[in-house]
Amino acid sequence: MNILIINSGSSSIKFQLIEMPSEALICSGLVERIGNKDAVLNYKTNATSLQQTAEIDNHKQGLLKIVELLLDPEKGVIKSTNEIEIVGHRVVHGGNSFSNTTLITAEVKQDIQKYAALAPLHNPGNLQGILVAEEFFPLAKQVAVFDTAFHQSIPEKAKKYAIPNNLYEEQGIQVYGFHGTSHQYVSEKAIDYLGLKTSKIISIHLGNGCSITAIVDGKSIDHSLGFTPSNGLIMGTRSGDIDHGIIYHLVDNLGYSVAEVKDLLTNKSGMLGLTGYNDLRDIEAEAEKGNKNCILALTMNAYRIKKYIGSYVAAMNGLDAIIFTAGIGENSSVIRQLVCMDMDYFGIDLDKAKNELKSKNLREINTATSKVKILVIPTNEELEIAKQAFQLLN
Ligand code: AMP
Repeated sequence: MNILIINSGSSSIKFQLIEMPSEALICSGLVERIGNKDAVLNYKTNATSLQQTAEIDNHKQGLLKIVELLLDPEKGVIKSTNEIEIVGHRVVHGGNSFSNTTLITAEVKQDIQKYAALAPLHNPGNLQGILVAEEFFPLAKQVAVFDTAFHQSIPEKAKKYAIPNNLYEEQGIQVYGFHGTSHQYVSEKAIDYLGLKTSKIISIHLGNGCSITAIVDGKSIDHSLGFTPSNGLIMGTRSGDIDHGIIYHLVDNLGYSVAEVKDLLTNKSGMLGLTGYNDLRDIEAEAEKGNKNCILALTMNAYRIKKYIGSYVAAMNGLDAIIFTAGIGENSSVIRQLVCMDMDYFGIDLDKAKNELKSKNLREINTATSKVKILVIPTNEELEIAKQAFQLLN
């Protein structure tokens, strides 16, 4: 069965065609800079790898380009769009309505639209992808996998904010959580790899966005991102945890508008605000050269993660494994080392040589005597979406 996975952002469409249940990747690609004259399309199969630049005005044109390539007599991988039986969509915000993967109906689309108010950067693009895919693949079943679904198991004591109850009950102001598909994928891999019957795991997703999740027996019980993807760890351009008194000070005394504060904390803070760079590769290179801001920012970044690990060990009363995943988690031995340093009280003991080894596979980087396993697990949100969509319909 061929499943097309679509991860449609505000100006991009990522896609993968996966054969299930073999999990074979047939092709993958990305359309970026939608809405620009110089939009870029990347497309890769076992036999072909190409990049095209073209004017792509909207998601419909973007998906049309993808469909044309999929059907191309030379570079394509299918003969008819009817060969796609399921289209699996990543949807960022499903509010409290969705704790599972869901077949997309008119009501589901209405809900995705409704939750756009809570994820204005993501849900509109996700919905756009669904509407266009319905048009191009009319016979395929359309399935939504929500980033928030995995975190629906977080208990009230962790998901409520200490604000008046009516804001929770009537306005849905609470922790929703994000990166759920990634945390679920890597934690299931870890449980499988370690052969655990019961498990206490901390999954650390460090990419452009960063989050950390406490997972007991495969279920999320606490998570660092909250009502919106702003809270918690220091990210590329987002501050993560901050005293909200700073916001009032910026507005009341320093002349910022609310929109300017939002822009400051979302787009100009985090590692960018601390160093002038948002890509960790640049920050590590500068730190190597002795750039003090970069050295401090790396230390601060790891320190924040350490504090969350400590609090989640307390929340779970134990720890079997920690997982590093996503761009930074999978590639930055520097951050992994800073996070795991001086954690012997918790039984976390990093093997420095193993930490330096580069690999695209699941790997264990703890010492033989470490009580806690330290795993690096490449995330694969698209494969997780394909697995869940396949399970739903089979
Ligand atoms: P993601 O959102 O998972 O694609 O992660 C993207 C981020 O991962 C980039 O912005 C970089 O900061 C970081 N990254 C990717 N490769 C490396 C690397 N080799 N070393 C350090 N950081 C990396």
